Amino acid sequence: MAASPVGPEIERLIAALSRLPGLGPRSARRAALALIKKKESLLLPLAEAARQAAEAARICSECGNIDSRDPCSICADPSRDASTIVVVEDVGDLWALERAAATKARYHVLGGVLAPLDGIGPEELNIAGLIARAAAPEVCEVILAVNATVEGQTTAHYLTDELASSGVKVTRLAHGVPVGGELDYLDEGTLAAAMRQRTAF
Ligand code: ZN
Repeated sequence: MAASPVGPEIERLIAALSRLPGLGPRSARRAALALIKKKESLLLPLAEAARQAAEAARICSECGNIDSRDPCSICADPSRDASTIVVVEDVGDLWALERAAATKARYHVLGGVLAPLDGIGPEELNIAGLIARAAAPEVCEVILAVNATVEGQTTAHYLTDELASSGVKVTRLAHGVPVGGELDYLDEGTLAAAMRQRTAF
């Protein structure tokens, strides 16, 4: 290995940054350099924000969301619709749905999808918590907002079976033409799903 041009403190910063999703060693070095050059306005505020977030962050014991309070601000919000639970794979999906203001329902974060080949079975996911929540009398509908991947759909089928005895309505997101999308650019699977799931005008 070539000798590092920087000391261990800076090397540790680069190594930590390079473990972030979407950042390889090259962009981590670039980011570290940008941070160090703007020590007062960028690096120190980032370090302080990271320390505070590390102290405050917790997982909601109700839904699995990440927030600085437990129950999270969504579960604690009385204006949210308690009759519907939106099931997502990951907290990032929950945040995406919130950014889109797609629903006023509450959520349930599975923490992944079923992947038997990788050793991820129902016990590894937050499925028992979902079944328990769906049994509450106020819950009428569970929306499976899992990814349109093979694993996501396998998980959706499994959950549909598990929820069958609870009597709640189980729905899933539509698959189809993206807003602003052109048919000619869609893959065959998306196009076929959009045709199957067509709706009345
Ligand atoms: Zn919550």
